[in-house]
Amino acid sequence: QGKFYQFMMRTRQPAGKVSNQLYLTMDDLANEYGNGTLRLTTRQTYQLHGVLKQDLKTVFSTVIKNMGSTLGACGDVNRNVCGPPAPYTNRPEYAHCEKLCHDLADLLAPQAGSYYDVWLDGEKFMSLERENPEVTKARADNSHGTNYVGSPEPIYGSLFLPRKFKIACTVPGDNSVDIFTNDIAIVCMHDDAGEVYGYNIYVGGGMGRSHRNNATFPRVATALGFVPKEDIFYAVKAIVCTQRDYGRRDDRKQARLKYLINDWGIDKFRAVTEQYYGKKFKTMEEEPAWEWLDYLGWGEQEPNGLLYWGINVENGRLRGGLKKALRQVIEDFNLTVRLTANQSIILCDIQPKDKAAIEAVLSDLGGYREEDVDPIVSGSMACPAMPLCGLAIGEAERGLPDVNLRLRAMLNKVGAGDAAPIVRMTGCPNGCARPYMAEIGFVCDGPNTYQIWLGGNREQTRLAEVYAERVKISELEASLEPLFFVYQSKRLGPEEGFGDFCNRLGFPVLQAYAKAYT
Ligand code: SF4
Repeated sequence: QGKFYQFMMRTRQPAGKVSNQLYLTMDDLANEYGNGTLRLTTRQTYQLHGVLKQDLKTVFSTVIKNMGSTLGACGDVNRNVCGPPAPYTNRPEYAHCEKLCHDLADLLAPQAGSYYDVWLDGEKFMSLERENPEVTKARADNSHGTNYVGSPEPIYGSLFLPRKFKIACTVPGDNSVDIFTNDIAIVCMHDDAGEVYGYNIYVGGGMGRSHRNNATFPRVATALGFVPKEDIFYAVKAIVCTQRDYGRRDDRKQARLKYLINDWGIDKFRAVTEQYYGKKFKTMEEEPAWEWLDYLGWGEQEPNGLLYWGINVENGRLRGGLKKALRQVIEDFNLTVRLTANQSIILCDIQPKDKAAIEAVLSDLGGYREEDVDPIVSGSMACPAMPLCGLAIGEAERGLPDVNLRLRAMLNKVGAGDAAPIVRMTGCPNGCARPYMAEIGFVCDGPNTYQIWLGGNREQTRLAEVYAERVKISELEASLEPLFFVYQSKRLGPEEGFGDFCNRLGFPVLQAYAKAYT
């Protein structure tokens, strides 16, 4: 008997949009070919774990034939393009943003037919003819020497990019996608009627780092400039081509765009990118303050119209009763779905008359009652880590539920029961669950030990910093309870979040106060 190799499959899901047909297909595949669970990722996609090698072709072709795709979900290419999961039907700027996510995914999708050769024996199921002609035109345009002429991959060539590449788009003020953690962050600027007229572009965000390697670090994206509406595909292509040609290929740990920008400085990066773009970037337009939105709970897709219901999925792991209940309501009420960048799910297109029945199924079959979910839990994220990720040093998905309970107990004990900091945990410093933006980030740094990162903010605009290293998970209370006590006694008011508080005081002051508590 030979070995049984198993694989993880990840989908491409621009802006997290999932059709009814694809949702039911993924649910079936998880039961038949996966490990019976489905994972919702921090980039609004599915991961199906435990697919046996012999089943790969069946699984991939089934996804593609049900209008899904995995093209560009892994590898040194542009990954899934994130966008707000808001299903509003009366907000043109959101509709525009969603379309932009799809267009950019198409612009930067690998073009060679090998994907279809491997999984569908050459049948091009997701026809390229369906894409926006403007996208096709921009991809083919070589007026500034961007393309590999004659190559099946006009943008990627034979070497592809130095490293994975991530893009997110949003509308001003809506930071449901951790916008600043992306290689390219695009803000759709619009007029009062919601008509988009151009884009603010930020570049060089990224989370991954390595322990004991100070040349690696998380970084938030930097302002690059504004481009008018008609130029966005050319501007994005120019940024990608700059990274393609100048990003480091000799050291994968230095290969992300953030290191190129850190090395060059934004002015040089802008100047080189403008040569590929063929134009100057304009001055960034003013934006409103950012808000972290999770889209959980009930909301209206448009006034007095269809409803949506955002359901928290703890650590993005769909299983058991909740998985069964979601399948039942999605099938019975013909719902579509959006996946959020916070590993949760939004049921969309709900008729108001069906609201009570859907709640009853989720409660009775799924054990889900929104009022029972602690906001620490609904705001938190963890990566899969052990046993599913080969890079994991320790636990994250399996460890965070208990940690969240202990955080809640500590906050209650010091009288800060109203607080619900954003908590994130990863099993290694790669930072897939973006712990470096959290108010409390746990990054595994040894067997049962974690770095604690503090000082990120709820709006997801500021990096946290390392507060402590090699903290035994069994001794979290000794590190955090004194800080929570100081927070409760010295915060400016209930509106000051724990991350802002830590940032305002600074670690030395925080530590001095905490010492007095112990
Ligand atoms: Fe990502 Fe590391 Fe978590 Fe694996 S263990 S999922 S690489 S953060």
